[in-house]
Amino acid sequence: MDLATLWHLTTGTLLVAAAMTLWERKAQARRSRELGLWALAYGLFAFGCILAMNRSLLPGVAGPAATNVVMMLGYSLMLQGALALDGHRLHPAFIAGPLAFIGAAWFAVGAGSADLLWNHVSSFPIAVVCALTALALLRSRTARGLRSRPIAVAVFAGHALFYGARAFAVPVLASAYGDAVLSIVASLTMYEAVLFSVAMAMSLLALVREEDHARLLATARTDFLTDLNNRQGFFELAPKRLSQAEKNARHALLAIDLDNFKAINDRYGHEAGDRVLKLFASIAREAAGPDAMSARLGGEEFAILLPNMTGEDARLVGQSIARRFAETAARDDELGIPATVSIGLAEAGSREADLTALLATADRALYQAKMLGRNRVESARPDQAAKAA
Ligand code: GH3
Ligand code: MG
Ligand code: MG
Repeated sequence: MDLATLWHLTTGTLLVAAAMTLWERKAQARRSRELGLWALAYGLFAFGCILAMNRSLLPGVAGPAATNVVMMLGYSLMLQGALALDGHRLHPAFIAGPLAFIGAAWFAVGAGSADLLWNHVSSFPIAVVCALTALALLRSRTARGLRSRPIAVAVFAGHALFYGARAFAVPVLASAYGDAVLSIVASLTMYEAVLFSVAMAMSLLALVREEDHARLLATARTDFLTDLNNRQGFFELAPKRLSQAEKNARHALLAIDLDNFKAINDRYGHEAGDRVLKLFASIAREAAGPDAMSARLGGEEFAILLPNMTGEDARLVGQSIARRFAETAARDDELGIPATVSIGLAEAGSREADLTALLATADRALYQAKMLGRNRVESARPDQAAKAA
């Protein structure tokens, strides 16, 4: 393989990667630091390739030394960007220190052992920094669950392994089989560089876009005012939650409607009405517990799915929510607004229950609660419940 062609190709793909990453950065304000660091790193790698191609033009060891330092700075910025995904940051001294050491090492011993440094020793810090980058991506909370994460991890781990082999395995092979090994490794190195420059940029762009997509999806499922699930979120996520529930357990659904809410708005104003909705949401979330799934279905209507819970227990939960809400809303240090809720309760006999039917049953019970004077929990009658279960 023609090495010069591969060096030129790598330089080109790196510049394209830098341009694409900068372009993406315009659209991703939340990840502008990471994308900026990575774009700068690609630029440094491209500059490093140009330096490497022309290293013999510089006096003494200046060429390879500068190439090494520039490349290492690029790898360090890749790591810095991966850490930034979770808000972590490598102290600049941890970047500058090793770079100074590498530069000094070249000038101290490079004259006598340039080949050893260039072919083997300089691979070691690259392997270490890439392994750390793979580890940072593997442990990243931000990247958890994203489909492109294992690819990005594999790309950096693969590069770390390759450079680890260049540092430790290749000298052994070269001493056993002669210098032909080195020219094969030089070709492989450049071939891998082309692939790495493409795969690295593509997997990291995919990571950032996927994260953004997941955030948009979560926003589309979340009610802006109360931060609970909205109707769409409820009907997308609740069946999943129910299907993960215990097989032979019973499950319950509460349909909730704030009482005389129109009058509250009329009397205290729409903003106060919004505060009442938020207060209810926070009480419902807390009282229903972590296994429950609460949602604002619209206006002043809410639903709470209680997997693995019998009707009797769900009734107690509903009563506790109603009581706590009425007490808290009326307190002067909270809202000082007398507000109450009515709750309808339906029970499901299996985790395959149809949620739309279950909600309709709970709604009929809620209607009963309104008829009977509001501020109460009513259970669906057995003949109503049978249709949903
Ligand atoms: P009932 O006890 O029978 O449920 O009476 P109600 O007044 O609560 O019922 P109604 O359906 O007549 O009124 C619901 C009110 O909820 C009307 C609407 O202005 C108000 N509302 C709906 N969404 C919001 C919101 O996001 N913020 C505020 N402040 N009010 C809202
Ligand atoms: Mg209503
Ligand atoms: Mg109402």
